[in-house]
Amino acid sequence: MASFSSACRSLVRKLSRAPCSAQVQRSLLSTGISKEAVGYHVGGGPSYMRGTVFWEPGKPITIEEFHMPLPKAGEVLIRTKACGVCHSDLHVIKGELPFASPCVVGHEITGEVVEHGPNTDRGITRRFPIGTRVVGAFIMPCGSCHFCVKGQEDLCADFFAYNRAQGTLYDGKTRLFLRGNGKPVFMYSMGGLAEYCVVPANALAVLPDSLPYTESAILGCAVFTAYGAMRHAAELRAGDAVAVIGIGGVGSSCLQIARAFGASEIIAIDVQDEKLNNAKKLGATHTINAAKEDVIDKIKEITGGMGVDVAVEALGRPATFMQCANSVRDGGKAVMIGLAAAGSMGQVDINRLVRRQIKIIGSYGARARQDLPQVIKLAENGTFDLENAVSRKCTLEEAATAYEDLNRGQIVGRAVVEIM
Ligand SMILES: [Zn+2]
Ligand SMILES: [Zn+2]
Repeated sequence: MASFSSACRSLVRKLSRAPCSAQVQRSLLSTGISKEAVGYHVGGGPSYMRGTVFWEPGKPITIEEFHMPLPKAGEVLIRTKACGVCHSDLHVIKGELPFASPCVVGHEITGEVVEHGPNTDRGITRRFPIGTRVVGAFIMPCGSCHFCVKGQEDLCADFFAYNRAQGTLYDGKTRLFLRGNGKPVFMYSMGGLAEYCVVPANALAVLPDSLPYTESAILGCAVFTAYGAMRHAAELRAGDAVAVIGIGGVGSSCLQIARAFGASEIIAIDVQDEKLNNAKKLGATHTINAAKEDVIDKIKEITGGMGVDVAVEALGRPATFMQCANSVRDGGKAVMIGLAAAGSMGQVDINRLVRRQIKIIGSYGARARQDLPQVIKLAENGTFDLENAVSRKCTLEEAATAYEDLNRGQIVGRAVVEIM
């Protein structure tokens, strides 16, 4: 086994330096597997890893063995330490958001840098030396498309064209291959629910030693998304009144980010009292149980009849989309961050939108290279409370159950899978 993996390692090195030599091609043919399927580990560790596989909607996700993934230029191999359990994965698992399968879900990670892809820019290897603790943003910017060049990495064309549309990285290929039969497995973002993952370096930021791996996983999606919504979509200012509809992982992060930005009233809206009680610890000044009270009436009452400056919808449902638009004051901003089942439509009162200058703004994630370091600083200086945001920790084996519980609304805050 050791001689096989070291042979593979030298083979891969040769390929990266001198592709297409006849000798290397003969060696590849003799192994019977493609270049991508060759497993290796530069640090002398294992040549394979375990990861969870989503096969198709309605089938249980399982843990499988993979060849050790190979990073390419500009990419980093990460030993995954923790991965958050997010609703977007659940949308994929339930078949509500079409995605290439089989795939590895999980897109909210922390980990340790193990290896750089061959020919990776020295700026990247210097910024993230081997052993660096890192957080990964779920939107992994290519760095060179039209939007990335403009700094709008949250709209990265390659991320949507390759990762979200095809389940691959930006050469149109996955980095994940099953150990047993070499078959490719697609990647939702970096495919974080595995012992190792390959991440484009533009998605990474350094995690300081003072922050724990497990709790910090949520920085790359839940907190990142909340930060993008408040900073870029809402352009929130100190003194603004904010309402957040849906107090899950992302919604509860919105409460904390609104508090960090100096919002005056922070109104949490949900149908579960347990989530609303937790919301108070995270910055909510008021709570509304939408199952018991009229949300719009109550918001008007809290804001002296005006409505809020900014309302955030974090559920992705047509009814709450409308509620969000109706919660804002004249000239206010309704920010939509909840992904819905494919094809869902939201309604809006056209005349009010026109006459009262209501702004309806979509927001997805944030800008990895400018925003993720800021988000980490908020956690580092204690402005963002990571401890209270994470409500459950589980193992890779328990990940499937965590998604089932998330589906039943039984996770208050965020669950995080501890991997290694
Ligand atoms: Zn997410
Ligand atoms: Zn891009």
